[in-house]
Amino acid sequence: MARRKKIYEGKAKILYEGPEPGTLVQYFKDDATAFNAQKKDIIEGKGVLNNRLSEFFMTGLNGIGVPTHFMRRLNMREQLVRNCEIIPLEVIVRNYAAGSLSQRLGLEEGTQLPRPIVEYCYKDDSLNDPLVTEEHIAAFGWASQQDMDDILSLALRVNDFLSGVMLAVGIRLVDFKIEIGRIYEGDFMRLIVADEISPDSCRLWDIETGQKLDKDVFRRDLGNLTDAYSEVARRLGVMPRNATQMTKPTLIN
Ligand code: UDP
Repeated sequence: MARRKKIYEGKAKILYEGPEPGTLVQYFKDDATAFNAQKKDIIEGKGVLNNRLSEFFMTGLNGIGVPTHFMRRLNMREQLVRNCEIIPLEVIVRNYAAGSLSQRLGLEEGTQLPRPIVEYCYKDDSLNDPLVTEEHIAAFGWASQQDMDDILSLALRVNDFLSGVMLAVGIRLVDFKIEIGRIYEGDFMRLIVADEISPDSCRLWDIETGQKLDKDVFRRDLGNLTDAYSEVARRLGVMPRNATQMTKPTLIN
């Protein structure tokens, strides 16, 4: 069988050429990285959980008319997605202060923000994904003013959807990051939510206890990462506990 063509390999995912033009296969690895890959580990089962969780969130978004790149899940670690041109921005939405915002502005983590705050970072690992303003984005031509209006509206719709879904299972959506891609349909260009939505890219805190159920468990050495992600999946009814352990075929004697 011919090897498939690898299009791109990132820190947590690999993109392969898809079966039809305009599609890609997105493979979720078990690699966890933080602090621009200075901290690294392999967390068995993480990729399986993120594949399912991203499928769950993206399917929900597609269902309420927020377009995403997600087409369908192929297997435990792979999903078929639309090939899009990624805008080189990380779009961050914050409902409560945490992480870099807390550090930058001296806000205690968990402080409720007066309204959702949307921030943009320029996607460049060699520069540590610096925070940029709309002035930079316009001046360097990364996105037009119309794109930025559409991106803001997409980001806030994703925030409302995810906040509601998480609230229903006793989880506070503190903040998250999305990436946006362009797809071309004839003469038209559309912006869609791409990449992934998972506990790798969100901050999720238990509403009652404040327990962290996201990548901060890894970043800050707070315990077992797959346990945290499994808890999110279990509450959302996405997959049963321990299903992630079945990553390799087992021989039946
Ligand atoms: N985030 C991400 N990828 C990045 C940077 C941030 O997914 O490269 C997410 C992060 O998990 C959090 C939100 O974006 O949910 C805000 O992150 P922050 O700016 O506070 O950065 P951090 O403290 O994680 O460095």
